[in-house]
Amino acid sequence: MKKQFAVIGLGRFGGSICKSLVAEGMEVLAIDMDEEKVNEFAPDVTQAAIADTTDEKALKSLGIRNFDHVIVAIGDNIQASILTTLMLEEMGVEHITVKAQNDYHEKVLERIGADEIVHPERDIGVRIAHNVVSENVLDHLELSDEYSISELVAGSTIAGETIYDLDFREKYGSSILAIKRGDDMIVSPLPDETIQQNDVIIVLGANQDINRLENHWM
Ligand code: ATP
Ligand code: ATP
Ligand code: CA
Repeated sequence: MKKQFAVIGLGRFGGSICKSLVAEGMEVLAIDMDEEKVNEFAPDVTQAAIADTTDEKALKSLGIRNFDHVIVAIGDNIQASILTTLMLEEMGVEHITVKAQNDYHEKVLERIGADEIVHPERDIGVRIAHNVVSENVLDHLELSDEYSISELVAGSTIAGETIYDLDFREKYGSSILAIKRGDDMIVSPLPDETIQQNDVIIVLGANQDINRLENHWM
């Protein structure tokens, strides 16, 4: 059986989630209190509804309890976001993901019991900052406060050397998960692999080691 999703709030974030879920072949109920937004998304989603989700009756009449996963993407109205999440939780919705606006909002959502709290603006900000700090950094993903994965372009200093000769793990405190070379992808490279100029190297390590790599990448 297909997983059923409901997305509340059809701003840029919620709208983008709706479109991506539909593209993945999922069933999606799109909800917003703004009729215009609902009309905009109605042709693409399985079902669309105009509702103020801070109104408990309205929320119940949508049968929201039966959805496998509800995404609360109400942006600026923190109060509406918190109240909606609280009611979803009380109705026993299995999985709730909420977009947090700030740290205070996140704390309250955690207390209420949201299963997943996301900070799209903050996370994209972190990624872009890493990207602009060094031209060699293509992408950066924070796994936790301590560890990150980074995608780096190999420069001339390490090109031509094997991973073994570079003593990569010892010297840079990070592990190479994969190397992208043109259309090829070398997953879990062996120590005798020779790094080539413009190889894209995907490394996993402690943030301080990854930052060192990003900032002093040959
Ligand atoms: P984003 O930051 O994701 O681009 P946005 O800045 O447009 O979105 P908002 O306009 O604050 O975010 O909220 C997103 C949507 O949530 C809006 O379309 C708004 O109508 C809807 N929304 C806000 N409060 C409620 C509510 N109580 N019930 C239903 N929808 C709501
Ligand atoms: P170690 O205790 O460090 O694993 P080793 O000689 O058994 O030592 P090898 O697997 O032979 O390790 O690799 C030699 C060196 O090459 C390692 O010390 C490490 O610095 C580096 N190395 C090998 N594979 C990777 C990898 N995927 N990412 C980063 N460095 C690697
Ligand atoms: Ca916004």
